[in-house]
Amino acid sequence: MKEMDSLTGSYTLKSFIEKCSEILQNDDGQHTYAMASMDISNFRFINDFYGMDEADQLVVAFSDYLKNYKRTVVQARVVGDQFRILMYLDGISINELAEELTDSNGRFCKDMQLQGKYSDVAWFIYSAVYEITDKTLSVRTYIDKSHYAKKLAKGNLDRKCAIYDESQYKDYSHTIDMIKLFEDAYANDRIYVEFQPKYSMITGEIIGAEVLGRIYDDKGQKVMPGEFIPVLEKARLISKFDMAVMNKTFEYMRKWLDEGIKVVPVSVNVSRVQLFDDTFVNRIIKAREKYDIPEELVEIEITESVFLDETDEKFQSIGELRKQGVRIDLDDFGSGYSSLNIMGYVPADIIKLDCGFVRKSLKTDAGKTIVECVINMLKRAGFEVICEGIETEDEARQIADFGCLMAQGFYFDRPMPPENFQRKLLKYS
Ligand code: C2E
Ligand code: MG
Ligand code: MG
Repeated sequence: MKEMDSLTGSYTLKSFIEKCSEILQNDDGQHTYAMASMDISNFRFINDFYGMDEADQLVVAFSDYLKNYKRTVVQARVVGDQFRILMYLDGISINELAEELTDSNGRFCKDMQLQGKYSDVAWFIYSAVYEITDKTLSVRTYIDKSHYAKKLAKGNLDRKCAIYDESQYKDYSHTIDMIKLFEDAYANDRIYVEFQPKYSMITGEIIGAEVLGRIYDDKGQKVMPGEFIPVLEKARLISKFDMAVMNKTFEYMRKWLDEGIKVVPVSVNVSRVQLFDDTFVNRIIKAREKYDIPEELVEIEITESVFLDETDEKFQSIGELRKQGVRIDLDDFGSGYSSLNIMGYVPADIIKLDCGFVRKSLKTDAGKTIVECVINMLKRAGFEVICEGIETEDEARQIADFGCLMAQGFYFDRPMPPENFQRKLLKYS
């Protein structure tokens, strides 16, 4: 005997998985299947408003409706108002099933409401379907996918049954993978830093470096920031990452200073998300103090887009850092919608011209004039200017001719491990 849910007589999740596996394994090819995931919107309010007994009655009615639905093979109540249903597709497409369910669920709600049930709370059925095409996947996967599609549809008030979309799921699994990767790396000290030197276009010497964060996975594979930074920003984990990078960086700088190596100013990237956090300034100052790094050696890179939705708050926290002697580098200038109207009062010391902007512009005469004028305009306005992403001798020569005094890019050096950067520093000490 399989374990059943005592309230509704539906399967429990565990017995549902077993039952579905049996059905799908023993299927003789006569049927095609879909997995559906459903719940009741605002169920929490129904519970609060009418009490648990009444809310239970709705769950029972919903369960009965699902049981009697013509395509239902088996169904489970997972918890509360959450149901998963194995359905026959048999001859219709997944889109047709979604349409059919949209109508049928709508009728169920309407019938209940006509009977005067729960009419004080606006409620309907959230639903999503996943077509089982690959029989080799686990029942758990089918459930996860249909549930995920339903979760994405939450908040859509059109009450249509959603259809699972593989591309959305890939984004989702990437997000989960990256969060796991980060948390694991954080716990096991696998967050690393690389240094990319910045060069003087006049003397050819190293005059600074940018720190770039990397994560190593448990197999020793290096993962680049493009993969995980956007995820960590969305998941609000970026401060944790940025601070790990900053602490690592200061640790190396402290070591070099103690060894008598001449250390150059080092810039650390911080995510724009951090500027919404009012502990941001303090954390940076505290970290600098902890490692006793002279303030003139610390720079913060903040991407251009931060300054575009110019809120006073953000300008203030950046201004606070500058007051403490930390220099601010406006990163990726020219990559987005660099807006001239903020340049008169943007709280930055250094402007970093975006590599895409420079490279593209150098291809035309008009573009060259613009790069030259931008460099000179920014310098005259009192900023230091650096070009990033310089890849060829020709690019280096041209920006030097235009008056850019500092540059960084693969032409000079790629980002490198701290040990290699230390060797470079030693050469100049
Ligand atoms: P970014 O701050 O603009 O950094 C420059 C990126 O360009 C780096 O990529 C660097 O390796 C790459 N690069 C340097 N020279 C060249 C070149 O000559 N040609 C080309 N094509 N690329 C060059 P990376 O390390 O993959 O970092 C990408 C972005 O990720 C960074 O852009 C930055 O926005 C972000 N990032 C990196 N580390 C951190 C970090 O610790 N915290 C935060 N919040 N963001 C970070
Ligand atoms: Mg940067
Ligand atoms: Mg940049």
